[in-house]
Amino acid sequence: MLRSWAYGESDKIVSLLTRDFGKVRGIAKGAKRSRKRFLNVLEPFTLVQLRFHERPNSPLAFIHACDWVYVFRAITRTLAKIVHASYLVEITDELTRDGDDCLPLFDHLRDGLRFLEENAPSSEFLTAFELTLLRLAGYQPTLEHCQRCGAKPSPGHGQGNGRWEFSPRDGGVLCRNCNGLRREAVPLSPEALGILAHFQRLGWEDGETPAFSRPALREARQVLPLFIQYQISKKLKSAAFLDGAFQ
Ligand SMILES: [Zn+2]
Repeated sequence: MLRSWAYGESDKIVSLLTRDFGKVRGIAKGAKRSRKRFLNVLEPFTLVQLRFHERPNSPLAFIHACDWVYVFRAITRTLAKIVHASYLVEITDELTRDGDDCLPLFDHLRDGLRFLEENAPSSEFLTAFELTLLRLAGYQPTLEHCQRCGAKPSPGHGQGNGRWEFSPRDGGVLCRNCNGLRREAVPLSPEALGILAHFQRLGWEDGETPAFSRPALREARQVLPLFIQYQISKKLKSAAFLDGAFQ
């Protein structure tokens, strides 16, 4: 379940990420009233079984019924989890195009919500989630070498040798020689760049995360929401709440 909107007196328009049919948008007639057919299943952070049919001349499918498979209840009990789960849902929704093969994205979002259901949110988890999502959705940024000249930020070459920057427009990092003209780029210390490269390479491995310094993590956290916003050409609504949620 990605989003829903009230429609008229008693209906709801819903947007769902499905395992087998990609992103489905549909109208659930009587959803605001019919507890029998829809219970409260058309809420965020639920995994549901859906019965629907597509309509030939409408972008909206007709949703017949919806049954609970799993409700991420623990997420709804703390504000920090709600904020993080909302962010995972929003970026997955925004980076998924209609008609995409969504199975890997569906699994990734379900696993992310499962993690938040059982664990406290963290910068490390969020960064790994974003990078894996970007890869699955076809937007993987270049982090291992300069996007323009190919120089590597390895010890003896780039690290300690001037600052690196992340340029959303270039889709990756730029070395000192290449980053001069990009005003919208975000400066990155070697350690922050190392954090991003680590999670891009390895994804999220529970309990396997090295201890990164908080300032470097904070620096790394600036980059990906900005990059995602650049890709979708709009602001992410839930991103503004993330900073406060770690306190
Ligand atoms: Zn370069």
